[in-house]
Amino acid sequence: MLGILRSIVQEVNSARDLSEALDIIVSRVQKAMGTEVCSVYLLDPASNRYILMATEGLYKDAVGNVSLAHSEGLVGLVGSREEPINLEDAPSHPRYRYFPETGEERFSSFLGVPIIHHRAVLGVLVVQQRENSRCFDEGEEAFLVTISAQLAGVIAHSEATGAISGLSLTGEEAHDVCFSGVPGAPGVAIGTGTVVYPSADLDVVPEKPAEDIDHELELFWSAVQAVKEDIERVANRLASQLRPEEQALFDVYLRMLDDGALPGEVVSKIQEGIWAQGALKQVIQQYIRHFEMMDDLYLQERMVDIRDLGRRLLSHMQEGEQKHLEYPERTVLVSEELTPAMLGEVPKGQLVGLVSVKGSSNSHVAILARAMGVPTVMGLVDIPVNQLGGRELVVDGFEGQIFASPSADLRAFYQAICEEEDELFRGLEELRDKPCETLDGHRVPLLVNTGLMTDVVRSLSHGAEGIGLYRTEVPFMIKDRFPSEQEQREYYREQLEAFAPNPVTMRTLDIGGDKALTYFPIQEENPFLGWRGIRVTLDHPEIFLLQVRAMLKASEGLNNLQIMLPMISNVSEVEESLHLIYRVYHEVREEGYDVHMPKVGVMIEVPAAVYQIRELADRVDFVSVGSNDLTQYLLAVDRNNPRVAQLYHSYHPAVLQALVRIAQDTHAVGKPVGICGELAGDPGGALLLMAMGYDSLSMNAASLPKVKSVIRSVDREWAVQLLQDVLLLDSPHVIKSCVDLALRNAGFGRYLRPVKTPVCEQTAI
Ligand code: PEP
Ligand code: MG
Repeated sequence: MLGILRSIVQEVNSARDLSEALDIIVSRVQKAMGTEVCSVYLLDPASNRYILMATEGLYKDAVGNVSLAHSEGLVGLVGSREEPINLEDAPSHPRYRYFPETGEERFSSFLGVPIIHHRAVLGVLVVQQRENSRCFDEGEEAFLVTISAQLAGVIAHSEATGAISGLSLTGEEAHDVCFSGVPGAPGVAIGTGTVVYPSADLDVVPEKPAEDIDHELELFWSAVQAVKEDIERVANRLASQLRPEEQALFDVYLRMLDDGALPGEVVSKIQEGIWAQGALKQVIQQYIRHFEMMDDLYLQERMVDIRDLGRRLLSHMQEGEQKHLEYPERTVLVSEELTPAMLGEVPKGQLVGLVSVKGSSNSHVAILARAMGVPTVMGLVDIPVNQLGGRELVVDGFEGQIFASPSADLRAFYQAICEEEDELFRGLEELRDKPCETLDGHRVPLLVNTGLMTDVVRSLSHGAEGIGLYRTEVPFMIKDRFPSEQEQREYYREQLEAFAPNPVTMRTLDIGGDKALTYFPIQEENPFLGWRGIRVTLDHPEIFLLQVRAMLKASEGLNNLQIMLPMISNVSEVEESLHLIYRVYHEVREEGYDVHMPKVGVMIEVPAAVYQIRELADRVDFVSVGSNDLTQYLLAVDRNNPRVAQLYHSYHPAVLQALVRIAQDTHAVGKPVGICGELAGDPGGALLLMAMGYDSLSMNAASLPKVKSVIRSVDREWAVQLLQDVLLLDSPHVIKSCVDLALRNAGFGRYLRPVKTPVCEQTAI
């Protein structure tokens, strides 16, 4: 069965569109199960009806014409119960509905299973049989359930692709097609989708027509020539080390590139009007499908060669292409997985929004986006990325949804929100030089989280009183080797100088987890529980010592440096780090630099550290909570995984209790405690943290004016009462609603979300 399942999934995966995918499903399932009928009904979001979309065994004319209301008939029953229904004699069931146009009356056994994707019912897969005696057995039911679960994602993707081209399931025009993801950075952007994709990846090459067929042919032939030369070069280089039969493998490669072979097929597709990269993709995928279905292991191996050849040809065709990418005036960057480098490619002032398939609201690219104030939606798992290029997109970073090709009404609606937001920020500018102080005189310094120099510029203009977290790994991530001591010194000096005499807290390199350096790859099964942060740098003292040396030298004459240690999970890590820092301090002074010993602090990000606060705080000068990681580790929810994003909640009672305890225990040993996770930049979160006694709040620059405005408008006592109230509650959602309500009642509703935004009703997924 597994083999059949695999081959059905492969075939469906490579279908060109939804209707081809569904036709493949019904015909293959009907054959595999030996039944007379197999049909797929999909739920049309526009009409909320199940439409017969494909069938093998019922009258074909019924396809697209037969539909059932949401809870009508056995199909509706399967959908609403969200579980299989297996009947020997379907017509005797009270929910049975008869449609003469399908020819269905002849069939009596019925097995229907729901097609569910991310908790949403997409449709129902049904098999039927004529004679009464056939009752589908448990094995058959399990097979159908497995097929349906495996195909749900493909169906969702094909549906979305159709919808994005302006078609609903029924082939009618679709408007305001909406896709739901996770909010990455707040705000609304209206702009033109620009797809950036990793080079030499055939799977993400978009389908588009050739603008100039001769030019495309020329591009292709020169790529073929270049690849042939590459292969000949490699073959010659290895000639002395290989036996003749191994050498023959290169001849196989070269033969595949003969005019009449693979290139001939690509050329005929280009001549049909497809651009060269798209034609290559289609041909290579056809070959791969063909080889995948073969049982012969030798031939399956050839698939690897084909894939490799395809990648080589594509890589030659793409040379320099990304560099020539034209960014529209208002660019909404769309990618499978956005990287900080991609953001950096967009010319200044043209980037208005970000859309990423992978990642979640606490991915580092989302944090960067918040720092830059670029509205972002992450974790749009099923969007047809390739279809979004050149389309007008609305990015709703408040709700975590995007709309493609918006109608005039929807555009006007969001345009008004953009204007309202701009106005709000203009109103907040006057707060820049005012202290962050409650009405009853409680002062809470607002600091900023930085990584790039642009963050510094923005933070100064927003009135930050220092840096609470400088993520030193950011400059490391945009290089192709470890930066030298001198280079690091320059980065650090910029940050220290910009804020002197205010404190600048530099965190030692925090790589691992989702923060990878291309030149220092770490391969792990479970990276967030692996070699991260201080664990890496203590194992590589040469990296740690060099970094601390660069920090100390950069601080000469300014003396506003503070050093912070990430991912601490025991006291010996603190002691070892302090030992190394002291050592560097003495060495640097001996070299003649007039530097002061910086304050050193620990980050509380690991649950173990919450229970050892006193021991840890005793050894250092300050404590700072990394609530992003603390939330992920306390709740066992990967901060980057959109599938579990709904469970990632910094308002979870367990997280709030931990935060209260950290503040109390740090103060008990007489040390200051700050916070530098994203919760500090959330107006409601900031109020709770202030009430818990946090001495400073560090956040992304864009959040700072809103947080200041809220804190300046309340009494501390009011916030303390709010905290006491929410600590009695047991659900993160209820706590969040309670805090939101308090903010609305205090007149800050607009800081949560400007107005009621449309929700994804016509969701394509
Ligand atoms: C945190 O974990 O809260 C934190 C501030 O660090 P980062 O987001 O860089 O992991
Ligand atoms: Mg962290």
